[in-house]
Amino acid sequence: MDIYLDANATTPVLPAAARAAQQAMGDDFGNPSSVHSTGLKARALIDGVRARAARLLDAGSGRLLFTSGATEGIQTAVLSALVALRGGSARALLYGATEHKAVPEALRHWNSLLGLNLEILAIPVDALGRHDLDFLRQHAPQAGLVCTMAANNETGVISDLAGIAAVLADSPALWLVDGVQALGKLPLKLSQTRIDYAPFSGHKLYAPKGVGLLYVRDGAPFTPLMAGGGQEGALRSGTENMAGIAGLGAVLQALEEGGTFRSHAELSVMRQQLLAALKDALPGLVLNVALDGSLPTTLNFAVPDVPSRLLQDLFDAGGVRVSGGSACSAAKAAPSFVLEAMGLPEWQAAGAVRLSIGPATDAALVDEGCTRIRACGEALRRHGPQHGPWCEDPGAMNGDLGDCRIVIGSQLPDFLKLHDDLVLIDVREPYEHALPLPPVFASMQVQAVPMNCLGTSAQAWLNEGRPLLFFCRSGNRSRQAAQALAGMGHDQSWTLAGGLALLPELEAAPDPALYV
Ligand code: PLP
Repeated sequence: MDIYLDANATTPVLPAAARAAQQAMGDDFGNPSSVHSTGLKARALIDGVRARAARLLDAGSGRLLFTSGATEGIQTAVLSALVALRGGSARALLYGATEHKAVPEALRHWNSLLGLNLEILAIPVDALGRHDLDFLRQHAPQAGLVCTMAANNETGVISDLAGIAAVLADSPALWLVDGVQALGKLPLKLSQTRIDYAPFSGHKLYAPKGVGLLYVRDGAPFTPLMAGGGQEGALRSGTENMAGIAGLGAVLQALEEGGTFRSHAELSVMRQQLLAALKDALPGLVLNVALDGSLPTTLNFAVPDVPSRLLQDLFDAGGVRVSGGSACSAAKAAPSFVLEAMGLPEWQAAGAVRLSIGPATDAALVDEGCTRIRACGEALRRHGPQHGPWCEDPGAMNGDLGDCRIVIGSQLPDFLKLHDDLVLIDVREPYEHALPLPPVFASMQVQAVPMNCLGTSAQAWLNEGRPLLFFCRSGNRSRQAAQALAGMGHDQSWTLAGGLALLPELEAAPDPALYV
C-alpha cells in the first residue's frame, strides 16, 4: 500500500466521485446543450452540481462556472479584471508574495498581452506567512486588482481574509482570492465578502483532474477566456467536461451531507500524530511553519544537514509519498520561494519537505504512515550519509557511456527466468537498502554498489561476463550505471526502466543476508 501524504499536490478520486464520473461517461453521456432527453439529463446533472456548489460556497447572486481547474479560473479572473482596467486610473496589480505561480504568471502574461503595462507588485509576507497589511494599505488606492490566496499550498498558512477585506474596504480594486487549498477545509461564505473572483480546483479535493470552478461576484467585470458555442451562459465556451463535473458533484455532495470528511479537530490530531513520528525519525527537525494559523492538513519542515531531496527519496523508498514544496516545482532543486518570502534561513527554504493529508484521510493510513516514517528514520540512522560511501552527485560518472539494454517492469519476471546467471545491482543509497523491495526480487541475491563505487566492481563484472541488471528508485541512476558498463565494453548491461517506482506493490523489508 502506498502511503500517500501529498494531498496538497493532488488527491485520489473519491470512490463516489469515480462512480459518478463513470456514470457520466456511460449511460448518462449526454451533451447538456442537446434538447433531447439524453441532453436534458446531462443538463439536470450540471445544474444540480452548480446549485450544490452555490449552496456550499454561499455564492448568493454570484455566478459559478465550470472550468478545467484553478489555473484556468485564475486566467479568466485576471483577464476579466484587466480588460475592465483598460483606460482606467489604476496603476498597479498586487499579489501575495506566496501565491501559486499561476497568479503572478497570469498577471504578467495578460498585463503585457493587453498592453496595460501596470506595475506588478508582490505583497510581502511576515515570518508567519501572513500578508503585510500596511503594504497593502499603502498600495491599495492605486491598485486595480489584488490577488491573495485563502490558504497556501506549500505551508498551509491561512490568510487573514477579514483583515485584507478591511484594508480593501475603500479601495476600488477588484479582489481575487485563490480558494484552491481552502475548499473542504475552511468555511467560505463568498456572498458575505467583497471577493470578486474565487477559483477552485477539483483534484485538490478528491474530484478528477481537469475540472474546477470559478466564482464571479454579481456585477464583477467578466470577459470569457474562451469564445465559441456559448456554453456556460456564454461565460466559457466548449462542451462541458461532464465526467469531471459529475465527479466534482459527488465530492460536493459528500461535503454537504457530512460523514466523509474529517473535522478540523480530527485532522489536527492526525497532524500531531504524524509530527510525533517525524520528530522520532528525524531528531533536530524544525517546523518551517507554526501549526497555529495553518491548515491542519499540512506540515512543512526541514532537518539541519539533511537535503530535502534525500528525505523525499528516503520516504519514497519507504513507501511514503511526500514532496519538497509545490508539485509544479518538485523537479527543480531551487529553494522554496514561499519560505524565502517568509524570510526563513536558506537551509530551511532549500531543505523543506511538505507532508499533506486530505480531509478524507483515514486513521489506518496515518497509523501506517507513522510506522513507515519511523522505519525511514531508522534506515537513515543506520545507513545515512554519515556512514558513507554516499554519492552526492550520481551524474558525475567518468568514462564513455555506451548503449545499455532496457528491461521494463512488466517483462521483469520473464527476464529473470531467462537470465538465471544475472547479477542484480542496487545503485540506490545505502539508507534505501533497508526499505522494501518488490516481490519479484524475493530471495535473489543483490549487490549494493553506490554509484561512486561502480569503478571498483567494474573489472570483476567484465571478467565474469554475467548479465548485469542495475536498478534504483526512478531508473535514472541505473540507466547511467548500465550505460557506464556498456561504455566499458560490457554487452549485457541492463537497466530497469522507470525503476522500482513503476513496479507493483513493494514487499516488506528485504532480508539483509541477501545483500552482498
Ligand atoms: N492555486 C493553488 C493554491 C494551487 O495549489 C494550485 C495547484 O497546485 C493551483 C492554483 C492550480 O490548480 P490547477 O492544478 O487546478 O490548475
